Amino acid sequence: MNTKALPHILIIGAGFGGMQVARGLARAPVRITLVDRHNYHLFQPLLYQVAIAGLLPSQIAYPLRTIFRKQKNLTFQMGEVTEVNLQECYVKLDGSVIAYDYLVLAAGGETNFFGNQAVEQNGFQLKSIQSAIAIRNHLLKTFEDASREADAEKRRALLTFVVVGGGPTGVETSGALAELIIHVLSKDYPHMDLREVRVLLLEAGKSVMPSYPDELRKATRDLLERKKVEVLTDTKLVDYNSERVTLGNGEHIRANTLIWTAGVKAAGIANRLGVEQAGSGRVRVADSLQLPNHPEVFVVGDAAYFENGKGQPLPMLSTVAIQQGKVTARNIRKAIQGEPLEEFHYKDPGLLATIGRNAAVARIWGLSFSGFIAWLIWVFLHIYRLIGFRNRLLVLINWAWEYFFYENQVRLITKE
Ligand SMILES: Cc1cc2nc3c(=O)[nH]c(=O)nc-3n(C[C@H](O)[C@H](O)[C@H](O)COP(=O)(O)OP(=O)(O)OC[C@H]3O[C@@H](n4cnc5c(N)ncnc54)[C@H](O)[C@@H]3O)c2cc1C
Repeated sequence: MNTKALPHILIIGAGFGGMQVARGLARAPVRITLVDRHNYHLFQPLLYQVAIAGLLPSQIAYPLRTIFRKQKNLTFQMGEVTEVNLQECYVKLDGSVIAYDYLVLAAGGETNFFGNQAVEQNGFQLKSIQSAIAIRNHLLKTFEDASREADAEKRRALLTFVVVGGGPTGVETSGALAELIIHVLSKDYPHMDLREVRVLLLEAGKSVMPSYPDELRKATRDLLERKKVEVLTDTKLVDYNSERVTLGNGEHIRANTLIWTAGVKAAGIANRLGVEQAGSGRVRVADSLQLPNHPEVFVVGDAAYFENGKGQPLPMLSTVAIQQGKVTARNIRKAIQGEPLEEFHYKDPGLLATIGRNAAVARIWGLSFSGFIAWLIWVFLHIYRLIGFRNRLLVLINWAWEYFFYENQVRLITKE
């Protein structure tokens, strides 16, 4: 068969959305090129576990060439897409040109600092393996520095950890960080007075987990406070110079660590399409997930702006990206066969976030759960959703070990 004659589908991004499109077209008579700047698929919901020394990067990332080894109609190319030409139907990948018949933009999102350059330069973000390792190195090095710091004020600044953003990522990160300190680092540094440690969670809005129902917002706050996380709501950060946080009310907090989890926007490539963008730079799509005026282009996941029935944009969640990826694969088949396309309808599977060991909040089947049961649901769901049997097994073993022995096993400082 002359495969060159087959329609060429180009997918930018091998995250949750792009992977589903590629898999959904596995048996279709098409040629697929999947491109990503990394050679692995990353399970971002567990990034914070790498940051707090709970898991290795290789346990939450899986090589794309291994995942797609058996899919004969797919070629993977690693590289950065720097340009998309919608009129002439090609993209530039590290300088080389790739033409397409159908394009799927599944490039995800990036951290939104809302123009605050001081925070961008001096704070940490949690969006990639590199950023998670940078946090891990910094946290462990900070404890080393604090352990030999004689000046009490400097030591307290070293031992003050500020997490900004009361959404699921900020809640998970601050809860896990508090536990790492209470249960693990306390054993490594027995001579240190850990009452000097502060973990603060700052949220500009009225409560943490704003998209969750009242009872879970309250449960989240209680669970965090039980783990000694200081939750400051209605508190806006305005500046950070790597030693001192400045709040909107003019107050200062001395802190050598700031982790920013307060914003996400569409990946930079979305700005180069020259099409309408809505909130957070996301690309506005039609009900079929096609680009208006470009029916050969689909946008899915964090990069896409799609409203639910109530006029609210769908959240930037893996569940949205996965469902949109599945529908896009079906719609590409339909478009090729000249059939009418399917409209996308999001089926909300519920909400789930963990707050360290034994504690999570969940909203599933219209019911709210908090505490141990929610945590068990979280553990099994996250292990189930990881790619590769080996990864699942290793993560399960790691977590079981941590659970019984209170040991985060990856406590390695791998760079100065
Ligand atoms: C710390 C953290 C925790 C999270 N926790 C949860 C959670 O608990 N539950 C949940 O549902 N969601 C969670 N999310 C959100 C979820 O990860 C995203 O919604 C999801 O990854 C979006 O999928 P996507 O396919 O749109 O993009 P992504 O999965 O981000 O994939 C995009 C891909 O595109 C590639 N790419 C981007 N630009 C280019 C370019 N120019 N050239 C080449 N490649 C490019 C990237 O390398 C990446 O691999 C979390 C996110 C983070 C950061």
